Amino acid sequence: MAAVIIDGRAVAKAYKEGIAARTQEMIARGIVPHLAVVLVGENPASQVYVRNKENACIKAGIRSTVIRLAQDCTQETLEETVSALNKDASVHGILVQLPLPKHLDEARVLRLIDPDKDVDGFHAMNSGRLMNGQPGFVPCTPLGVMELLKAYDISIAGKHAVVIGRSNIVGKPMAMLLLAANATVTICHSRTQNLAELTRQADILVAAVGRAGFVTADMVKPGATVIDVGINRVDGQIVGDVDYAAVSEKAGYITPVPGGVGQMTIALLLANTLDAAERCGC
Ligand code: NAD
Repeated sequence: MAAVIIDGRAVAKAYKEGIAARTQEMIARGIVPHLAVVLVGENPASQVYVRNKENACIKAGIRSTVIRLAQDCTQETLEETVSALNKDASVHGILVQLPLPKHLDEARVLRLIDPDKDVDGFHAMNSGRLMNGQPGFVPCTPLGVMELLKAYDISIAGKHAVVIGRSNIVGKPMAMLLLAANATVTICHSRTQNLAELTRQADILVAAVGRAGFVTADMVKPGATVIDVGINRVDGQIVGDVDYAAVSEKAGYITPVPGGVGQMTIALLLANTLDAAERCGC
């Protein structure tokens, strides 16, 4: 039987409506949530992502500031920009759009962001909080996956979740969130042996690899929930990491690409911004 398609567009739309209502309620209390995005250089994909974030903020009623720095800007200028945003009490969330041009030290910049304004959840303080089960900011993409599972009432506790990918942005926080929701979690990566043997045990399989068609039907247990985080450009089309046509005939639930996880990422960025403003209370 064909899998149920997890409709990221519909879930994100409803979620963003909730965000807009919450924003209005905060504004009525005198709190104007404010996200500042720092964009360095001319990377076309980054320009699109930043524009999408800006538009989503405006639509939700969240104040948005985009600071554009030149491709050849110095580390010092970038760090001064972030430090000024840290000090600016009107700014609740700070996001530095990645990747940065090669001459800039990304890790240093991310470390500089005030952890309480780190709405991307990339600061080590927030990774540590997630690891320790303390409140903090969690990266938006894995948070979005959790919202999709919730929206479709997919139970997690006691289930075997297999995450392919161990990046700080997706794989690791995804595994931590699933663990916190009481799944038994296996993390697979580029050095994992017998990958298909492990993925075939998954009740919930999350693919965050960055390779088109990487997860094939023979790697999936019948009835499993398959979450495709991948975004790959093939012949001008966006496709995921999962061989969608074949896997959707075998899985119980599946996210399409586009129209799945990607839709949720910005929605959760908005939610993190509201949380930052709420915690700040100013
Ligand atoms: P990354 O390159 O940092 O990590 C990829 C991971 O895949 C690594 O941990 C690596 O160990 C693993 N991997 C590579 N080859 C493998 C193999 N042969 N077998 C098993 N594991 C293997 O990428 P990332 O930032 O984690 O992103 C992963 C994908 O998700 C990319 O396609 C990216 O574009 C996409 N992404 C989507 C969103 C979204 O909003 N939907 C957000 C972030 C990233």
